[in-house]
Amino acid sequence: MNPNEEKEAREIIKKIVLLNALRYGGKASPKPVFGKLLGEHPQFRRQIKEVSPIINEIVQEINALPLEQQKAIVEEKWPEALVEEKTEEKKQLPPLPNAKKYDRVVTRFSPNPDFVLHLGSARAIILSYDYAKMYNGLFYLRFEDTDSKTKKPKLEFYDAVREDLDWLGCKWDGEFIQSDRLKIYYEYAEELIKAGNAYVCTCVREVFQEKSKTGQSCPCRILSAEENLVRWNRMLDGKYGEGEAVVRVKTDLGHPNPAVRDWPALRIVDTTKYPHPRVGSKYRVWPLYNFSTGVDDHLMGITHIIRGKEHLTNQARQEYMYRHFGWEYPETIHYGRLKITGASLSKSEIVKGLNSGLYKHWDDPRLATLAALRRRGITPEAIHSLMIDVGPKPADVVLSWKNLYAHNRKQIDPDAKRYFFVHNPIKISVKNVPHAFTAQIPLHPDHPEMGFRCFEVKPAKGKAAFLISKDDLDLIEGKRAVRFMDLFNFRVEKIEKTLIQANFLSESYEEAKKLGAPLIHWIPVDSGVPCEVVMPDASVTKGVAEESCRTLKSNEIIQFQRFGFVRVDGVNEKLTAYFAHR
Ligand SMILES: [Zn+2]
Repeated sequence: MNPNEEKEAREIIKKIVLLNALRYGGKASPKPVFGKLLGEHPQFRRQIKEVSPIINEIVQEINALPLEQQKAIVEEKWPEALVEEKTEEKKQLPPLPNAKKYDRVVTRFSPNPDFVLHLGSARAIILSYDYAKMYNGLFYLRFEDTDSKTKKPKLEFYDAVREDLDWLGCKWDGEFIQSDRLKIYYEYAEELIKAGNAYVCTCVREVFQEKSKTGQSCPCRILSAEENLVRWNRMLDGKYGEGEAVVRVKTDLGHPNPAVRDWPALRIVDTTKYPHPRVGSKYRVWPLYNFSTGVDDHLMGITHIIRGKEHLTNQARQEYMYRHFGWEYPETIHYGRLKITGASLSKSEIVKGLNSGLYKHWDDPRLATLAALRRRGITPEAIHSLMIDVGPKPADVVLSWKNLYAHNRKQIDPDAKRYFFVHNPIKISVKNVPHAFTAQIPLHPDHPEMGFRCFEVKPAKGKAAFLISKDDLDLIEGKRAVRFMDLFNFRVEKIEKTLIQANFLSESYEEAKKLGAPLIHWIPVDSGVPCEVVMPDASVTKGVAEESCRTLKSNEIIQFQRFGFVRVDGVNEKLTAYFAHR
């Protein structure tokens, strides 16, 4: 640095030190100052050795001043810097209805373990969990695994669901599995039948529906409670085959929605044909969704049910049963549908794709399953803040991947180490390189304390060869100058099919700036790790990652500069990564 440059550097540093001191009660520390300086004024990255002592000196000098004097200097010289940066207001959930009515708020997440969870499930989980925590309450996990015929649970998904919840950071205070609770459901069914509030219907379904449509009762409905109890016991004793008898809960036969009228509560499943993954063929009488859910919500003391508005009809059904029992229905929040453009949140569609071989696994990057998002380096914190942003509003919400990426970027950008990845590499040979270079490039532009990557460039007879990405050819062609990031400037002389010829120009960043030189990244030829990045459309981008990537660990989220954020999936002789977003 010449004396003029040094004077300028001192002014810049002084301002950063003062602002840092003001923020921390009058005491600045060199590390964040260093980071801020290199982040906002990259020209100093090449003069780290020279600016370090200046920073230390100015920090000492400023820290020796009283806070008032520090403030006075800033007020005089940089008054605009005192206008406080507006911090983004953190979104909060609206209060729960009638929370005060209950000693303790209790919520639940109740999946059928027939598949892994996706982004849509995350909404129910996060809202239920956050509300419980917000009121110092309890959050339960309840597996609703009572349909071994059409929505058959699978053992692997009980654990997959637990893993997803763990990953989301939503610790549950209690866990229930409905297939362990059949005796309980039988008890309550019997109570309803005894009281004449439910009956065993042996009508063919179409016949029942025909009658129900016009508000008429089927012949079973008018049988006495005793006769229905006999039928109920016949159900339990295996005297009816599948489809031959269902327990129906009495409702108003004139309910405007025929689907609510005398809804089915328990049915017979031929479990020799459709064995349950946990209890096999032990039971033949199984509760249907509304019955087991309704009973459990009451028994578990659920105070607030937070779920999609497609459950409104279920609430209408269950309220009849609650009235029969003399129970009070929990508070409900029904949120609208959530769509992500370009991602299928439909379980059946995803399963179809898996069966047809379109997706190899449920963590295919094209899917919005939590497993897929995890693999791509989407953080649980990002999903969390997105869901809080969306909240429990009843209107339908359409999100794009970009919304999720914006939340994720906020989470990972401050910590993600930066590296060079040259995809579709092409060789570039630069002549007249005057001497050897050692480039020290910070792992993070704002955090020099995270350390540096080191590149050695040793020209042979003035020539040095590098790899750059073919995608940069358009950018550099015909330019007066091009700059290798943090290295030097050159001019392209000739672009051939497999080789680019170039001529060394100068070292200084300022000159590159003056000449409007595009900045591109690079890797010395004969160094680096072969690298494959799995893209969001499941295609694979191949190239070379810089040598220091060899020490990366699986699961690290890094940024390939000018390419995007990726999650390291594995490192051996080859680095495999999954693309998150730009
Ligand atoms: Zn009937």
